[in-house]
Amino acid sequence: MRQILVSVKTYVYIWSAMTKTVVTKSAAKRVFICPLFLILVVAWTIPVSSQSLRGSSKSLDLQNQVAEEHDFTYIDTPERVRYFASQGWLVRVSPTRNFQLHAVSFPFARPEVALFIERLSRQYMVACGEQLVITSLTRPTERQPRNASDRSVHPTGMAVDLRYSGNQNCRAWLERVLGELEQARVLEATRERYPPHYHVAIFPNQYAGYVEVLQRRTASRSAEISYTVRSGDSLWTIARRHQTTVDDLRQANGLRGSKIYAGQVLEVPANH
Ligand SMILES: [Zn+2]
Repeated sequence: MRQILVSVKTYVYIWSAMTKTVVTKSAAKRVFICPLFLILVVAWTIPVSSQSLRGSSKSLDLQNQVAEEHDFTYIDTPERVRYFASQGWLVRVSPTRNFQLHAVSFPFARPEVALFIERLSRQYMVACGEQLVITSLTRPTERQPRNASDRSVHPTGMAVDLRYSGNQNCRAWLERVLGELEQARVLEATRERYPPHYHVAIFPNQYAGYVEVLQRRTASRSAEISYTVRSGDSLWTIARRHQTTVDDLRQANGLRGSKIYAGQVLEVPANH
């Protein structure tokens, strides 16, 4: 049943993404259907987990399954961590004004985890005005704490632990964002109790794809310019001047006919 629901949801989402793109967006944006479609299909092939921040064996299964799909090694010693870093498979995570490291013995992680920390901490600072605190990254199996699960993915470098903030609003923000990213199937987050923290396993390929789509959307938006209609203009003259088409202008502005008026502000799609 769950599978059926997921499939229906997928098709509805894809259908709405496609119709929305075709009806309202400029031709320049049509190119996003493909990557978005692929990522959605890839994302939806991952089984649905609890989608809450409560830990479960299903959640652990999923984290290990993703590690396996990426062909990740469970690194056993500190020397191997350094070797992986020297090969560029792990990158050093250095604190910025938006986040700090607290008692992190091995400040290395998969590049996508570093990207996640960079993006999340920037948004976290804007949303609640405090630094994010990272308490663990890659941990080789022989240095795992006693109470760690023997199925922990920390030795692969795809996990990060975030300190539980004393500020309730910051916790609410973080839990909402982690929940949304979990629903987008790009990570698995768990609220742990001993000590209180959020354990986040990033799904590297899925997360990188997700960020790429967001960045392309932003780039496309900024590629659009606004044009204020002057008297004597027509859609045809504006289209010709900006090397676009009347159809694209109509789509970008949700216009049915050709009527425009002086002073009207039109979005002019980028020259494609
Ligand atoms: Zn953890």
